[in-house]
Amino acid sequence: MAQNRIQFQKGLSLPDFLRDFGTEEQCVTALEQMRWPQGFACPTCGSSRFCVVYHGKVKTCQCKSCHSQTTVTSGTIFHSSKLPLTIWF
Ligand SMILES: [Zn+2]
Repeated sequence: MAQNRIQFQKGLSLPDFLRDFGTEEQCVTALEQMRWPQGFACPTCGSSRFCVVYHGKVKTCQCKSCHSQTTVTSGTIFHSSKLPLTIWF
């Protein structure tokens, strides 16, 4: 009987997943790399110059050109979610 290739494909084990995405900071970093693979780009003006501002625990990127603030989750399905990213992941 042929082995089911989907069921037995190589994947990420639960311990490996938790090692890589077990904390909120790791999930934020992973999202940043997915959203801005070439580095931060302001969604308003496209500038790559920014500074980081924290609102409580929320990491916010403030554009140095237009001063708009954005988070890595703004404009995504994760925006305004009360669930932590670790649960989403
Ligand atoms: Zn900007």
